[in-house]
Amino acid sequence: MSALRGLHPRPLDERAVGFHCTEHDLSRSSRPLSDLVAPGIRRIAIPLPIRGLSIVNAYLVEGAHGWSLIDAGMHTAEAEQALRAGLADAGIGLEDVTRVFVTHLHPDHMGMAGTLERAGADVLMHTPEIAAARRVWSKGHEMIDASYEWFVRHGMPRDIDEGMRQAWIAMGARVDDLDHVSGVDDGESVDLGGRATRLRWTPGHTDYHAVLIDERDGVLFSGDHVLPRITSNIGLYPSSRDDPLGDFLGALARLRDLPVKRVLPAHGDPFDDLAGRIDELLAHHAARLDATIAAVGESERDAYTIARMLFPVLRSPHEERFALAETLAHLRHLERKGRVREIDGSPAQWSVTHAAQGSVIAPAP
Ligand SMILES: [Zn+2]
Ligand SMILES: [Zn+2]
Repeated sequence: MSALRGLHPRPLDERAVGFHCTEHDLSRSSRPLSDLVAPGIRRIAIPLPIRGLSIVNAYLVEGAHGWSLIDAGMHTAEAEQALRAGLADAGIGLEDVTRVFVTHLHPDHMGMAGTLERAGADVLMHTPEIAAARRVWSKGHEMIDASYEWFVRHGMPRDIDEGMRQAWIAMGARVDDLDHVSGVDDGESVDLGGRATRLRWTPGHTDYHAVLIDERDGVLFSGDHVLPRITSNIGLYPSSRDDPLGDFLGALARLRDLPVKRVLPAHGDPFDDLAGRIDELLAHHAARLDATIAAVGESERDAYTIARMLFPVLRSPHEERFALAETLAHLRHLERKGRVREIDGSPAQWSVTHAAQGSVIAPAP
């Protein structure tokens, strides 16, 4: 990619960016309402009103002492109908779900958790993700307002930013209110009706995203941390941890060699080769870091300009937001590696440091 440096800005990549992904979602397929994906585990495909991301998987786990659900869709009429139909396939109703584990705060995962809570289920999340969810979905919209200013500071035109703000508020309307969520800490066990799993903190996609591992059967409920066909959106926001992409790459590396035989992702089909997929994701981000340095080039550019070079096809305010946040996450990671620097201004500018010659993943001479 370094060969591109010094050329006029031009698109580096034809991929579109979606709600959670930086590649086209390939998960659209005709499939039954629910299907058995591992012993005692049924996938319920829940439709999403999101361009480029048509389905979120909820996993229904049958234990000796009750039924549990991993993730809870976004709350639309179609989604609730699909959830009820999927539960009916297993011969149960909403009121039979005793426990819901939500991998992270995004609306396609938390959406109907409150409905299940009111039907009698306990709702569990990684402890610090609960407070983050309350901030993101607060009716006061403080976090949305802070992000609005943040994106303008990084060069996003105000009219696009305003569209993004309205779209975010509309998403929040599809997330149920929750009365009580129980916290689970990193490394603690989570009992799914008699089936033992362990929570692992996997930051990056959100600061406190978590997965569950059934160590006895080698099953990983990977949420949006490891997806088979698309890459999780990794974004930098004003409230984010310091280096979300660094967090994400580290969390992938820590999962790679776990004894997992079956991966159950929140989007796309279940798959078996966890290490192989993690290697692909690590290579993808290494290439994107190189592409980001090439897009910064020899001059000073704001992050929005760089994002438009990396993601030339953006079809909605949501896509604009995720493209800019993802670009900022890559820039921040490069900054922490000493490869680029941020220059304060309005908008803030980025430039390549002298150390950034050649590939970002090349070993130092
Ligand atoms: Zn997500
Ligand atoms: Zn998702």
